[in-house]
Amino acid sequence: MRPRVFTAIKEMIGLQDPEVCFQCRRCTSGCPVAFLESDYRPHRIVTEVNLGRFEKLLDSDVIWKCTRCYKCTEYCPQRVAPSDVVLALQALATEKKGLLGEYRKMIEKVAETGFSFEVMEVADRDFEFYDRDSLGLPELKSPSKMSILGKIVKKLGGVE
Ligand code: SF4
Ligand code: SF4
Repeated sequence: MRPRVFTAIKEMIGLQDPEVCFQCRRCTSGCPVAFLESDYRPHRIVTEVNLGRFEKLLDSDVIWKCTRCYKCTEYCPQRVAPSDVVLALQALATEKKGLLGEYRKMIEKVAETGFSFEVMEVADRDFEFYDRDSLGLPELKSPSKMSILGKIVKKLGGVE
């Protein structure tokens, strides 16, 4: 019988099915995080889940490296969607250990300002930096009724 966590992952990812992975590794070849981080391999994560060895993944930092770009899902010739497998693992890790500090800070920031992080400058290919003003863009303003929105965000984000 499959362990409870595997059943939970299957329920969370709906129509996707990690069990039909045939280890072609196309997900990993297209993953920008795998390109930069030697310990991040989506095809390996799918295998670990299929083999029932995901308890270690729930306790590791690896599952939090996914940028949710969905390239792996586009590349996958099967109905696997490694991105959704990783998301399900993140949800289970949060259920097990509580919200990560970084996520808590991000939710608090959204509740406070309406933005998940500070407005940043952008760089062109010559590493010249531009702010919104120099690009002729208007100043970004927080949403109106921020106090109500903030309460909703905190409640939904579980940081109250
Ligand atoms: S969604 Fe995550 S696992 Fe998939 S390609 Fe993007 S970073 Fe990699
Ligand atoms: S692309 Fe799909 S089938 Fe191929 S290794 Fe990745 S998850 Fe498995």
